[in-house]
Amino acid sequence: MKIKKLETFSNKYLGFVKVTTDTNDIGWGQVSTYNVDITAQIFHRQVAPWSIGIELDDDKPDFFDHLQLILEREHKYPGSYLLRALSGLDTALWDLYGKLKEKPVASLIGGKPKKIRVYGSSMRRDIKPEDESKRLCRLRDDYGFSAFKFRVGSECGRDTDEWEGRSEKIVKLLSHDLGSDVEKLVDGNSCFSPRKAIELGKILEDHDVCHFEEPCPYWEHNQTKKVKEALSIDVAGGEQDCDISTWKSTLEKEIVNIVQPDVMYMGGLYRTLQVANMANKLGLPCTPHAANLSLVTVCTMHLLTAIPNAGKYLEFSIEDETYYPWQKNIFTRDPFKVKDGFVNVRDEPGWGVEINPAWLGKSEYRISE
Ligand SMILES: [Mg+2]
Repeated sequence: MKIKKLETFSNKYLGFVKVTTDTNDIGWGQVSTYNVDITAQIFHRQVAPWSIGIELDDDKPDFFDHLQLILEREHKYPGSYLLRALSGLDTALWDLYGKLKEKPVASLIGGKPKKIRVYGSSMRRDIKPEDESKRLCRLRDDYGFSAFKFRVGSECGRDTDEWEGRSEKIVKLLSHDLGSDVEKLVDGNSCFSPRKAIELGKILEDHDVCHFEEPCPYWEHNQTKKVKEALSIDVAGGEQDCDISTWKSTLEKEIVNIVQPDVMYMGGLYRTLQVANMANKLGLPCTPHAANLSLVTVCTMHLLTAIPNAGKYLEFSIEDETYYPWQKNIFTRDPFKVKDGFVNVRDEPGWGVEINPAWLGKSEYRISE
């Protein structure tokens, strides 16, 4: 079978890709979120032209080389946007094969539908420690979350806290209020110098926090490594990295204890599997980045059922439509119901979701054929 057409449905925040073959089989995928008006244009300019008319294996999802070929054809344009667009093709093709084989993507990559433990991931820094504590304790009690990540420092903050004293206060308060049965993770989002990160890291150690994410500017590998070596708790990172050679260097130089590729930043599932496999060879767990409740979290759920070095939990955004208005009513059925701290990977073909026709109807439409 051949790829006959590639359609995108997008707005500024979110965009889906529909692949149709000459056998009239279809699959749905998604490009990475944000600036999707730009990404959709790149998709039709730099991804679709290399893909229309290509022959796909009738039997198995053997298209990795095609993804690689696109990157080689577009080798003058390495970087995030091309890969954000490529994710749309990759994830649509996985869905296509899932539907053809009547299997969830999880089963196509060696996993199976099952429950996955989540950690509730707070995206907010504008929130006072007392208010953050209230909402996380409520989520723990109502939905059984057994792990949470909250924010310290400020984003790429050059050692400056969101406001004076916030980081230390939130660590101490949440450690106390969430209790010892709940695992506690923090994210520095590239805020700290090694000295400040280690200083805060000692407080994290004393307050039972197990995971310090992106403590230093993520591009400064040696800084992150210094923090990792000074602390007994896990240092995690890599969400921004989408280039395989960067990942190779991260792994060779032993920068982090936990790798966090993002399926949609990476260019899709195939390339994320590549990173997870490289980390597995070094015995490192993979706890992917998945920061909103779009298809990125669905794809990550399927991925985590399949890789031998899956981290302890799935990143699961706790922010609702008041924070992410664009996240509303994307799917016809909610794939993200949390019960007793777990979500469920459905035993349905492909990604197991249906994009809401009403959402599609309001989106900007483009086609390559
Ligand atoms: Mg992060």
